[in-house]
Amino acid sequence: MARIIVVGAGMAGLAAAARLATRDNSVLVCEASDSVGGALGSWRHDDLVFDTGAYTLTLPAAYRDLFIKTGSRKKSAAATLEDRLDLQPLDPVRRYFFPDGTRLDLPNASRGRLVAAFDEALGSGAGAAWLRVVDQGSRVWDVIRPALIEAPGAGGRELARLLRTTAGRRALTPFRSLRQVASRWFDDPRLFLLLDDYARQAGADPRSAPTALAARIYVEQAFGAWRIVGGMHKLAEELGQRVLDRGAEIRHGARVARIERSTSGALSGVTLESGERIAADVVVADVDRAVLARLLGRQESEAAYSAAITTFCLVVEHNAAPPMPHESVLLAENGPAVRVHVAAEQPAAWTVHVPANGNQQPDLGEVLDLLASRGLDVRGKARVVHTITASDREAATGVPGGAAYGPAVNDLRSALLRSPVKQPVPGLFHVGASARPGSGLSFAALSGWQAAELIQPRR
Ligand SMILES: Cc1cc2nc3c(=O)[nH]c(=O)nc-3n(C[C@H](O)[C@H](O)[C@H](O)COP(=O)(O)OP(=O)(O)OC[C@H]3O[C@@H](n4cnc5c(N)ncnc54)[C@H](O)[C@@H]3O)c2cc1C
Repeated sequence: MARIIVVGAGMAGLAAAARLATRDNSVLVCEASDSVGGALGSWRHDDLVFDTGAYTLTLPAAYRDLFIKTGSRKKSAAATLEDRLDLQPLDPVRRYFFPDGTRLDLPNASRGRLVAAFDEALGSGAGAAWLRVVDQGSRVWDVIRPALIEAPGAGGRELARLLRTTAGRRALTPFRSLRQVASRWFDDPRLFLLLDDYARQAGADPRSAPTALAARIYVEQAFGAWRIVGGMHKLAEELGQRVLDRGAEIRHGARVARIERSTSGALSGVTLESGERIAADVVVADVDRAVLARLLGRQESEAAYSAAITTFCLVVEHNAAPPMPHESVLLAENGPAVRVHVAAEQPAAWTVHVPANGNQQPDLGEVLDLLASRGLDVRGKARVVHTITASDREAATGVPGGAAYGPAVNDLRSALLRSPVKQPVPGLFHVGASARPGSGLSFAALSGWQAAELIQPRR
């Protein structure tokens, strides 16, 4: 039985903790805040619950597998994902508002309806053109899933091997960006705005976003997009409960200040901010890579980070809210979009994510004017009950600049070879958005799985 400390109760840390506790290890999760889920945050106001972080789940299979594999005969820990949570497929996945007034409702997991929706909104041929992107994503997924995603410990060598194959080069187009590849299939600027939005949502600068990111477009279309009735945060709460049910401990208010090593360089445990020292054989760090460098007493090399956002929780007056889909995306001509998330069961609770420009606060009045210009006029009928700035996110997670999607993705390597799960320090493992395979709820669960497999492979 190994003594394992997990630093951070984000989704990757919880996933690793649940799996490792199931394998009879002594697992302690040290979490700085008083809640679980990290970036999968929520805010309560009266009887309303706002998803302040993630609100769409793709690739739910990653969590289905997690709940099945960490289940036990004991009743409390027996439940599957769908026993505990009401997962609903989204339709539409989201509504796009283009600057020229065009609207597009993105259908969920249907090639036929996708083609029809694109053709109707953007003109004949748009659907077939967009399918080329989806199909490129399918090629990417087919090569990276076995070689890099579902391959704990895989890294540069496996990527280099992939790039020596015709299928790998055709999928990953190492010398051409996603935009360059797509420009062979369409020239409608609105389709490029869509492509750029996907790139930004993956933490990339659209001008250099690698073709590998098309896999995210494919995964969303092929396996569907889902929401959790009652709020996404329930996923974190259920997973936290599973961690406890499997006998692990979660300590809140336990901020780790240092990861300790003995004089031989071997990992020996952690020291909390309070000064308490806890011995461990293995540490799984679910923190940003800059935070990990600090915990190891190293200087983190200057790295680019993805864009930051400010989040407003708005309560819209009864009957004043227009009917809203789960997500509305107000695309901008040059720059990131404004996103509005509304859960079906509480139409008065709007979460509005606005691009943050350095330390400058976005002007809510301007945001409401923008919404009104696209037909979503709640001016004078909405009040802000909570705001989360980029600095709040930075303070909570330690991610530099409060970046929503961790380190930027600007080339093939930064997309596919994020910080390795198995670190050079023996006994140290890195999971979460800045580790492999990358950001997003399901990838977080997969990085927790990778860590568990590397620490103690399941037979
Ligand atoms: C606004 C927003 C919207 C998003 N939307 C989506 C979406 O719709 N779909 C999707 O799939 N993904 C989305 N994401 C991305 C997704 O939420 C994240 O990639 C994922 O939740 C990251 O999980 P993680 O395990 O890396 O840890 P994090 O969520 O970063 O959690 C890290 C945890 O570690 C704790 N911690 C940090 N330092 C220490 C320390 N020194 N000691 C102890 N504890 C510490 C923190 O308190 C935190 O709880 C969104 C993200 C944001 C911010």
